[in-house]
Parts: sequence; C-alpha cells; structure tokens
Amino acid sequence: MKMQKMMALVLAGTMTLAMSSSFVMAAGETEAVKAAGKVVMTTNAEFEPFEYKDGDEIVGIDREIADKIAEKLGVELEISDIAFSSLIPSLNAGKADFIAAGMTATDERRKNVDFSKDYFNASQTIIVRTDSDIKGREDLNGKVVGVQEGTTGDVYCTNEDGSSDIAVKEVRRFSKGMDAVSDLLSGRLDAVVIDDFPAQKLVEKNPDKIMTLEEAMTEETYAIAVPLGSDLVDVINEVIDELNESGEMDQIVSKYISVSEDDASADSAA
Ligand code: GLN
Repeated sequence: MKMQKMMALVLAGTMTLAMSSSFVMAAGETEAVKAAGKVVMTTNAEFEPFEYKDGDEIVGIDREIADKIAEKLGVELEISDIAFSSLIPSLNAGKADFIAAGMTATDERRKNVDFSKDYFNASQTIIVRTDSDIKGREDLNGKVVGVQEGTTGDVYCTNEDGSSDIAVKEVRRFSKGMDAVSDLLSGRLDAVVIDDFPAQKLVEKNPDKIMTLEEAMTEETYAIAVPLGSDLVDVINEVIDELNESGEMDQIVSKYISVSEDDASADSAA
C-alpha cells in the first residue's frame, strides 16, 4: 500500500514536470531559438530574385530579410531548401522556424500558419511566346497553362473552388518556373502563370522568344510564415518595420530588381 502511494506520487510529479516543460517550449519559440543559437528558414530556392542559388549559396531578397531576422535574434541562420509544396508541412513538422519564400498570404494558408506583416506587393503574371495570340487574361480560357506546383498561380488556374473567372483547358504543374518556361518555348504550353518578378527574370533569359503581358492574373502580397501561435512572428514584424522605416527594404529590393513607383514595398504602397 505504502509503495503504491509512493509510486502514484512519483508519477504525478513526473507528469506535472512533463506538462510544465512542454508548456514552456510551446510558449516561447523565440527563447527556444535563442537557446539553440540558430534559426531555421525554409524556402524553395528556384524563385529568382527572392531566393535562388549563386554557386552553393542561397541568395536573394528573402535571404537578406532572413539574415536581418537572425541578426536581431543574435543567432546563426540555417536554410532548408525544399519543394514549394512541402514548405508548410515541413514547418508544421517542426523542421523549420519560418518560411521566407515569396509566399503569398492567403486565407487558405492561414488555416495552417500565421503570417507576418506583408512585406511585398506582387501579382501573378502571364508569360507567352512573343508571337502568341494571347493578349490578356481572358484569352487564357481554353488554353494549356504551366504553373509552379502548389503556388497561388496553380490554385488560381486550377480553380478547384470555382472562384476564378478564367477556365483554362489544362493546368500542367512544374517544380521550377524555369521548366515551365522551357515547355512554353518548345510549344507544349500556351502560357505560364507565375509571380511578376520571377517572370521578369525568366523573360530576361529569353527576351526574343517570350514576354510578359501587361494585364496580370491576380494581385497579392507576400509575408513570412511561422507555425500557428509562434511568438517569433513579433520579432519578424519588428524587423520588417525597421527595414521599411530605415529605407533598407527598398535598398535590398533594388539590388535585385528595378522597381517602378507603384511596385515598391508593401509598406510604402499600402
Ligand atoms: N507567391 C506564390 C505563392 O505563394 C509563389 C511563391 C513561390 O513559388 N515561391 O504561391
């Protein structure tokens, strides 16, 4: 009897300890990151100018913002480079602390992640061959369109929820925008729908053969994602505010792209 009582006490004590330590972990992602001495960003480095490879290094606008986040936390930045459609599952499996991937903040994604403030205004742009008869978004009705798998361009063209006004004939999904463009060049696709600045970079590589249309498919904004409830979002928002206020955000962006007035950072355009 005495023994059983003791066992029960030990068990109760262990449970209380376990509960309180998991509580501490869940309540403080920022503290956990500081204690670990590193913060892990996950991205898909096939998205110039936001993230792409320069030799072995991942560079781009999001990389520079992530460096500032790590600096603010006083920790090392580690980058995990995976498929775009795996980013949210990987974040929620605890494999990363935040996603910086030119990711559009959508209500659908908000069911699974929290977003920082918007840091960039973007749009889904249509790329066609220079001799194409596609002149605007409505001409995509009945056409074969290439997209990057799992992106907002994919969601919009696939139109599973019926919210799009355009009914394409077929959507072909690629893991890299570059692969979609090579199918466009060879005539297997009628158009590619992808974010505006990556589109600009893809067209720059084949200026005589393809071009972007002036009329965009949709407008959207980029934000950084964290797991639901992660307090790291406060630090990230502070960094975004500081970069906007000091003018550093514009400096970072202009290193990679020439932006017109109305395409400036989300903050100044808002
Ligand atoms: N902005 C798009 C999205 O969030 C594409 C992002 C990307 O391919 N990296 O879906």
